[in-house]
This record gives sequence, C-alpha cells and structure tokens, in this order.
Amino acid sequence: MRTCRFRAGGQERWGVIEGDRVRALNGEPWAGGLAEGKPLPLAEVTLLAPVRPSKVVCVGRNYAAHAREMGTEVPKQPLLFLKPPSAVIGPGEEIRCPPGSSDVQHEAELGVVVGRALSRAGAAEARQAIFGYTCLNDVTARDIQREEKQFTRAKGFDTFCPVGPWIDTGLDPAELTVACRVNGAERQRGSTRDMVFDPYALLAFISNVMTLLPGDLVATGTPEGVGRIEPGDWVEVEVSGLGLLRNPVA
Ligand code: MG
Repeated sequence: MRTCRFRAGGQERWGVIEGDRVRALNGEPWAGGLAEGKPLPLAEVTLLAPVRPSKVVCVGRNYAAHAREMGTEVPKQPLLFLKPPSAVIGPGEEIRCPPGSSDVQHEAELGVVVGRALSRAGAAEARQAIFGYTCLNDVTARDIQREEKQFTRAKGFDTFCPVGPWIDTGLDPAELTVACRVNGAERQRGSTRDMVFDPYALLAFISNVMTLLPGDLVATGTPEGVGRIEPGDWVEVEVSGLGLLRNPVA
C-alpha cells in the first residue's frame, strides 16, 4: 500500500494511492484511516509531505564509506540527532539556502515511518512497529556543521527535510538502492545493505532513548557522495521501490 498526504480543492487530506488515482482517508494512515469519497486522478492533486512527525530522528555516519569521506570513524553506537518538524517539506517544495551558509549539501536517505508507539523495544518489536518507508533528503549546512559540535543549527533550518513522495508499507528495507541526482547528474548511489545499523536496530536503539510516536520519522543515514547544492539546482532522491523525491533549491 502507498499512502500520502495531498491538497485538492483547497483541502489537505491523508490519502491512499491506487494506481494513477488517490483516495482520501478519514484519518492518519497509521491510525487506521479509511478511504472515503471518489478517487481523484493523481495528476490533479498536489502531493504534500506524507508525514507530520512529532520529531525527526536522524542517524549520522551509518555507512562506512560516508564516514570515511567525512574524515571520521564509524560510531560504535548509532549517532543520533534531531531535525525539528518545522524543517519538513514535501515533493516539489523549495529547499531554501540560508544566508549564513555557503555550503548547503544533499544527503539522500531511506526514511522510516513509525506506525505505533515504541518504547524500550528490541529489534523484533521495532520491526513490527514500522508503518512504512519513504525517500528523505537530510539537507545540511556543512560549513556550519564543521564549525559547531551540535548539529541542530546545521541540520535544522526550515525546508532542510524534504520527504516523500509517498510512503510504501510493503517494502523490505534490506537491499534498496539509495541515489541522489543534482540537475540529472548522479552524485550518490549506495545500498541499504551497507548500513552499519539496520532500520530495526536503529528504531530499537532510539526507542531506548525516547518514545517513538506514530507518524515519527527516522532518517537512516546517507551513503557516500554528499555534495553542494546551489540556488537554481534541482535535487532528486530516489530509493528503489519508493519513487522519486524532487525539490528545487532557492
Ligand atoms: Mg544524514
């Protein structure tokens, strides 16, 4: 099943995608929202970010090759940081480069959407609590990240968390290709099989720090090849089976 959030006729709704059509849901997809009303052609609606998370929990250096390109080691335990929910944008929305940075970079990642509350869980329970997967761009002001110990400012600017275009609930995350293109030129291509900690281990680890709530989003780290984006660029994140998340840079 593919779920989404969309705008049509001035209204924002949760939805379920059926082929080239979308049907509205009467509630959040992970809370048992049921389809209602007539299906609409997908081409006639605006897809929004498919989640409205209470928090976005991100994992740093979860691919060895990316840790190497950053000149750092793979952490012994998952390295966690947060992006504020206000950073989330949907497909087609502008990533805005803040005036305080001259090195804004893309990070293509697999996003995990939590389906039910998860606290102090093991990997098996964490697996059961996953609602689905989506594409995510962990946009980063690299110059600010290098200047400061904390990642909050470098990773937390408004628009620095593009997500979408939808959530797929039937995917096995073990061997997915995670790719990034800027203006059509490939910058990143990795596989989730090279993650240091897999999604189940990550959710379990996070849940032993903070309770994950339905609709929360976990960014699972980026493969190697991160690089700069500039105003006027188009950046695409593609995860196999999850479609294409495309955003302009302003
Ligand atoms: Mg990242």
